[in-house]
Amino acid sequence: MHFEIVLATHNAHKLKEFRRILAPHGIVLYGLSDLNMPPLDIAENALTYFENAKIKAMSLRKFTSLPILADDSGLEIDALKHLLRLHTSRYQVLIGEQKLANQFITYCLRDIDDKKARFHCSLCFSLSEGDYREFDGVMEGMIAQEPSGEHGFGYDPIFIPMNKKDTVANLNEEEKDKISHRYIASKKLLTFLKIKGLIRG
Ligand code: IMP
Repeated sequence: MHFEIVLATHNAHKLKEFRRILAPHGIVLYGLSDLNMPPLDIAENALTYFENAKIKAMSLRKFTSLPILADDSGLEIDALKHLLRLHTSRYQVLIGEQKLANQFITYCLRDIDDKKARFHCSLCFSLSEGDYREFDGVMEGMIAQEPSGEHGFGYDPIFIPMNKKDTVANLNEEEKDKISHRYIASKKLLTFLKIKGLIRG
């Protein structure tokens, strides 16, 4: 039994991670380019991660009757209250490149003891027009002294998950998939799909 879903993202890393997490449950995840979908042309201006994800899902609903999965995520750093969060992706664009953004964050925190941080992922899943459900996941941790590691993407080189010694970028794919904010949110989605009888129990 296969269950098909379109993922509303242009981020190839996210598509790859969601595929790794969902494929073992019989879910075939299409990217926008697999279905010749138009690019998502939307402003992520909402006040919550979920609302941003919902805007993405709704904008795709005009083009497909397939189930849609959209996500919005962000990095929250307690000591840098007003940075990142809902604007995480914009921040990286403002700074110019991810490597610089990572170096800048660790530099800002160099003399600050409280390095607590978390990744938040909010999923919006739509089975049909008017039906938009929320599933959230959080990965707690702290910001590293300096960037390290080659795996993953984005802020992975500066984020050390709780109970780990190294940054996410030093973990292999399997290790990240067991603890990530994306995995925790996806697990809730999988439970919903099983209850609905849409995927194997
Ligand atoms: P958005 O969800 O596409 O708006 O992305 C939010 C920002 O968070 C982007 O800059 C991503 O690179 C970053 N981000 C989201 N998830 C992860 C992750 O798992 N690791 C590292 N960075 C992430």
